[in-house]
Amino acid sequence: MQVRQEIQCSLCQKAKPDLDRINRGINDAKTVAEKVSHARELLQKVEDVLKEHEHVDSGLAEVCRAVLNLRKKTAELILKLEK
Ligand SMILES: [Zn+2]
Repeated sequence: MQVRQEIQCSLCQKAKPDLDRINRGINDAKTVAEKVSHARELLQKVEDVLKEHEHVDSGLAEVCRAVLNLRKKTAELILKLEK
């Protein structure tokens, strides 16, 4: 799977700066609580972008969904750190 393909999609292109910003927040977080709060934001954002893709029916959207679901899994893994 080519992550770069998501750039071709205008929905993902639009969401990318936000997703990147949140990811940076996760990477730079000094505490678990901080990481978890960014992960929650990421999860919310990914859900929103996934919803925007609901009516996009193309092979490209398949790639988008796969990429977004990966991001979602990452966020969910971080949320588990809190327990
Ligand atoms: Zn997309």
